[in-house]
Amino acid sequence: MADKSFFVDTTKCTACRGCQIACKQWNKNPGTKTIQRGTHQNPEDLSFSTFKLVRFNDFEVNGQPKWYFFADQCRHCVEPPCMYTAQSFGSKAIIRDQVTGAVLYDKKVKIKAADFKKVRESCPWDIPRWDEKTEGMAKCTMCIDRIKEGLLPACVKTCPTGAMNFGDRAKIIDMAKKRLKEVKATNPKAQLLNAETHRTIFLVIDDPKKYHKYAAENDVGITRIAAIKKLIQPFVNLSRITG
Ligand code: SF4
Ligand code: SF4
Repeated sequence: MADKSFFVDTTKCTACRGCQIACKQWNKNPGTKTIQRGTHQNPEDLSFSTFKLVRFNDFEVNGQPKWYFFADQCRHCVEPPCMYTAQSFGSKAIIRDQVTGAVLYDKKVKIKAADFKKVRESCPWDIPRWDEKTEGMAKCTMCIDRIKEGLLPACVKTCPTGAMNFGDRAKIIDMAKKRLKEVKATNPKAQLLNAETHRTIFLVIDDPKKYHKYAAENDVGITRIAAIKKLIQPFVNLSRITG
């Protein structure tokens, strides 16, 4: 087993939401009560029991409708600010798997609401969620239980179009770069989001903000390093983070 990564090719996503359902099913997460909000996106956001969410955005271009779909999930950051933040107040709720690189939350470890707020704010992608009743945190697990048995993550196994991909990190980065080259030929704004620093790599063909307000790291107005510095100084020697 080696360092792993996802590649999410948004150009192939049809918003069938198979990945979202497969994630719920494998993790035995309950359904979420929803209401009609004038969009096909449902539920409205990630939650303690929704680790994967296909975000919908629609636009009118030259009088024609255009949709962007974004199968959102944890990026499994190579240097995860959520984990460093939790460590700064002594919590062992978040660890990084040494083999795959998966960033894992132990739902059973309780964390106070105020501390969770710091963890959530340190994530540039607004991924972590908290449950008031159990006081635990949750998010995408990379299906660590499946991949340790040689299976694909449930979302990837289910995706019918090839939008969701998973494998050894070097091969996935190679796949993403090759696909970018193909897509750029007809979509000059195409780009990979954070391929070198994250284990979930998205390919988009337009401004990431058009997909989701947290699709681009800087849009949240807080960078990973700034968040870490703010929260853990003076407890941790920052040299290991800033290099
Ligand atoms: S995306 Fe957010 S929750 Fe996931 S590892 Fe990075 S900081 Fe943590
Ligand atoms: S299963 Fe694949 S095609 Fe369907 S919504 Fe998820 S990423 Fe898109």
